[in-house]
Amino acid sequence: MAIQTPQAPSLETSAFDELRGSFRGELLLPTSPSYDVARRIWNGAIDRHPACIARCTGVADVVAAVRFARERDLLVAVRSGGHGVAGHAVCDGGLVIDLSAMKGIRVDPQARTARAQAGVLWGELDAETQLHGLATVGGIVTHTGIAGLTLGGGIGWLMRKYGATVDNLSSVDLVSADGNVVTASADENPELFWGVRGGGGNFGIVTSFEYRLHPVGPIVLAGPIFHPLEDAPEVLRFYRELAAAAPDELTTILELELAPPLPFLPEDVHGKPIVMVGACYAGAPEDGAEVVRPLKEFGRPIVDRLEPKPYVALQSTFDPLVPHGWHRYWKSVELPPLTDGAIDTLIDHTSRITSPRSYTIILQLGGALGRVAEDATAFSQRDATHNVVINAVWTPEDPDAERHIRWARDFFNALQPHARDRVYVNFLGDEGPDRVRQAYGTEKYDRLVELKRKYDPTNFFRLNQNIQPG
Ligand SMILES: Cc1cc2nc3c(=O)[nH]c(=O)nc-3n(C[C@H](O)[C@H](O)[C@H](O)COP(=O)(O)OP(=O)(O)OC[C@H]3O[C@@H](n4cnc5c(N)ncnc54)[C@H](O)[C@@H]3O)c2cc1C
Repeated sequence: MAIQTPQAPSLETSAFDELRGSFRGELLLPTSPSYDVARRIWNGAIDRHPACIARCTGVADVVAAVRFARERDLLVAVRSGGHGVAGHAVCDGGLVIDLSAMKGIRVDPQARTARAQAGVLWGELDAETQLHGLATVGGIVTHTGIAGLTLGGGIGWLMRKYGATVDNLSSVDLVSADGNVVTASADENPELFWGVRGGGGNFGIVTSFEYRLHPVGPIVLAGPIFHPLEDAPEVLRFYRELAAAAPDELTTILELELAPPLPFLPEDVHGKPIVMVGACYAGAPEDGAEVVRPLKEFGRPIVDRLEPKPYVALQSTFDPLVPHGWHRYWKSVELPPLTDGAIDTLIDHTSRITSPRSYTIILQLGGALGRVAEDATAFSQRDATHNVVINAVWTPEDPDAERHIRWARDFFNALQPHARDRVYVNFLGDEGPDRVRQAYGTEKYDRLVELKRKYDPTNFFRLNQNIQPG
């Protein structure tokens, strides 16, 4: 099933000739050979046809595209890594300002900082920072964009040791809705800096990010341990105790799914329901060995891949499970420490999974992330324990899309009695204004509205998890 938006009035393609004069990058029109590839994003269920895709080469191109769209009142979508499941990175009939070709990265190993342009993906940034044994808190899949992830907050394997991605952000350069270039940091435009650290793409187009880096790896003790779902009641209760006592260095992730046909999983397990407990110890592997020992010794795992490995290898662990082009529908909830009722619900709905590609992922928050003051950033969830994402996934040929989506919705509804009234903004689909408010809470949402009124009063940047100016 393809998710489409109503067709916006289309411009004559000749209208973009005027932009050509001030734009160095490619302007892809429906007649361009690469248009059909360029309009596609990670979620194959999104099938939209913009009037033009402006593939920017630098800040000047972004400014030119913003001014051009503004003068003509064009609908604008902003694309970086293209991983947003809601598909806001592409629109029907309007202009996509595409930053995916802006790949500059500069690491300063002495100062332990990295400046990266908005088109950089996590695998690309990790490769450059790991050259110096450094890293910042990034996502857990190499092909996710740094831009959308950072602007929503950013959680990953290093978060319990070093905080959210935004806690490691020292400045951004941004093109505002009126086409001006603005820097935001703790010293310059601090309120804007507060807002971009979690408020998404509501205030402008960020062209580059500066991150603080930390010594990480290059070898870390990390990886998944797989158990059969029939053991999940014990595994998840054991996990609950382990997570509660975990030091900051240890971040864990659970995944419930039908075993994918990965080469390191025995063939007779493929397609059977399993629970994965993944862990990363963000410290010396020899110090981590004792911490993860109970996890390695528990139960009767099918496969144990929790072992020393390069940090960049850990970061690509999930890549084969999340290729571009499959169709997706997500529902996300925040859970407190797992209750028996939540555990039963997780297992029950996993056993009713309808697609071999669907899965549920549960990320453990807390640690350093939880010790940052709640009002320090627009990103919320400082006192959260778990983010759950129920991922309905199917191939384009699969006729059962509705059934897979219903599975995710039923699962989501069944978790509600156990959930907190909050959600991580980067895990939201296209779910309407109430869910966006839920991501921030009333107080923060109102503060974000004030900021939106200042930087984007006409809601020029509205294809996002939208903060409405009024
Ligand atoms: C496979 C997968 C794994 C993920 N893993 C994690 C994870 O480990 N941790 C985590 O925190 N999240 C994770 N996410 C969620 C991820 O943070 C969001 O999907 C995020 O929006 C992706 O950013 P992007 O640049 O790739 O996406 P895009 O689709 O390009 O952008 C998403 C939205 O962000 C805004 N935006 C993008 N670039 C800019 C910019 N330069 N300036 C202003 N606004 C912009 C726009 O509104 C855009 O619609 C994952 C998502 C996927 C699909």
